[in-house]
Amino acid sequence: MSLVVVGSVAYDGVATPAGSRDRILGGACTYISLAASFFTKVRIVGVVGDDFAPQDLDFLSSRGIDLEGVERAPGKTFYWRGVYSDDMNDRETLQTDLNVFAGFNPQLPASYRDQPYLMLGNIQPALQRSVRSQMTATRLAGGDTMNYWINDFRGELLETLKQWDFLLINDSEARLLSGQNNLKRAAAAIRAMGPRILVIKRGEYGATLFHEGGYANIPGVLLDTLKDPTGAGDCFAGGFIGYLASRGVSLADTTAQPRELARAAVYGCIMGSFCCEEFGPDRFRTLTSDDIEARFRDYRQITAF
Ligand code: AMP
Repeated sequence: MSLVVVGSVAYDGVATPAGSRDRILGGACTYISLAASFFTKVRIVGVVGDDFAPQDLDFLSSRGIDLEGVERAPGKTFYWRGVYSDDMNDRETLQTDLNVFAGFNPQLPASYRDQPYLMLGNIQPALQRSVRSQMTATRLAGGDTMNYWINDFRGELLETLKQWDFLLINDSEARLLSGQNNLKRAAAAIRAMGPRILVIKRGEYGATLFHEGGYANIPGVLLDTLKDPTGAGDCFAGGFIGYLASRGVSLADTTAQPRELARAAVYGCIMGSFCCEEFGPDRFRTLTSDDIEARFRDYRQITAF
């Protein structure tokens, strides 16, 4: 069951209390696809500049990720730079250079269009809608968004959300999108906009999953060492949809759904936690499926009562 992922492929500069790095591989599409690649076949759509290093493409290929939809455009790759607070729960963006990403107009290769799963990273809602309409046979489609689109492109975003089965956003974005401070009410209002499956991410505290049958709280994994939280939210998304793709889940299987959705959110938390253990996506260079299953077993213990 293959998954199409669309979003930014970037070079990042990050400063955290554990150190700093510049021009390391990043981008939402990169993190989502690496995390999902541990569960399912992934095909990505993105744009890189002529400065993009062949070794970075090789890393993605080494995880079995299909790069046919990666366009190389004249100019520089998208660059983002940020600095984290001491507890790493907040970050400030210091620089965003869109570069070749400014002209990003995702076109899916023919071989991607009939794939069953679609995850749209955080890009302009009209582009997300254009990609959604290029897919012909989706079982589950959805994505991510951010404050900027909620505030300044609200009409576009609402049109886009109507066509999504799932949405992943953080708690402050959920409040902003719904106009409700109470998260349960916020979730009901957002689900009425389209996405029947909603994950509200809550950083180190985990996430809350909302669906037809109610809601489930998914606690976060506490780490011994946290180096860089960049991409953790995207890795959550990659683990979540990657797991659902590996199980062939669709909105039609109502009986399997609540249990599979909760497991998907647990894998999301687990992939987000691995992401934070090294700078950039480096943890995924050595991570194995056995490591993931070991953390899943630990997770059962920390949540059993
Ligand atoms: P996360 O920590 O999950 O929010 O993801 C961080 C990643 O998103 C970084 O690797 C950035 O390169 C990427 N990113 C930051 N700002 C943007 C933006 N405006 N559009 C697309 N990707 C972005």
